[in-house]
Amino acid sequence: MKYSAMNHFSHPEHKLKFDYTEHPFKCDGCKEVGIGSHYKCCNDDNCSNNNNICDYDLHLHCAIPSPSISHPFYTKCQFEFMSRPPGSIQRYCNACERDVIGFVYHCRSCGFDLHPCCAKLPMVLHDGEVKLYLQRKVSTPCHRCGRKGRSWTYRSNCKKYNLHVACVKEMLVDNWHELYYGMKMSVPSLKGSLETHLRHRKSRKGKVQKCCEMAGLALQFIISAILGDPTTLIVGVVASLTSK
Ligand SMILES: [Zn+2]
Ligand SMILES: [Zn+2]
Ligand SMILES: [Zn+2]
Ligand SMILES: [Zn+2]
Ligand SMILES: [Zn+2]
Repeated sequence: MKYSAMNHFSHPEHKLKFDYTEHPFKCDGCKEVGIGSHYKCCNDDNCSNNNNICDYDLHLHCAIPSPSISHPFYTKCQFEFMSRPPGSIQRYCNACERDVIGFVYHCRSCGFDLHPCCAKLPMVLHDGEVKLYLQRKVSTPCHRCGRKGRSWTYRSNCKKYNLHVACVKEMLVDNWHELYYGMKMSVPSLKGSLETHLRHRKSRKGKVQKCCEMAGLALQFIISAILGDPTTLIVGVVASLTSK
């Protein structure tokens, strides 16, 4: 089911098929950026045509939403999937603080909203050495913006590395043009974030390199999770980071 062509209510004129890309796309469901596994329009009914005329893409989480979900951060809430936010006032996502303009999970009783990919962010990201835990609020400053609180945060198991989901999204949006035309061009701003991190760590000699590697890896995990597919390896970014 997951890997075959499908009909989707949001794009009834054509079938959608499973695809994988290391180039970011804009999801036509939630209107947020995506990478990795996704569904794209076939442009015809039997998926024989490979011209991407429609350029219609959906995150997996947007292509195959759950009718309703609960979330460990909001134990009293029942979130319902909606193809657009309810009402006429501007709504924002409680996880990343960005506007909600497309697909959303909405709790009717308290009015909370979550983008589909934010709602399904993994509570733990790890690859052997590095473990990152998703937290609703963290009392130590974020390495990108220096602020406490704010949006959901990924925190390393050593508790020294904190990065807001909101800040990662900002980085991605600020670099959208470069991201869209080649992931590698986004590295300077990512490097900026890492250098800030390094400055915090300058006093402890010897640990710096190790810390930087961890930060790079952490960033890659967080970015791909926020883009909707935590299994995607952002090869260009990682190669540039480790060659520095
Ligand atoms: Zn989406
Ligand atoms: Zn189409
Ligand atoms: Zn609620
Ligand atoms: Zn969000
Ligand atoms: Zn931040």
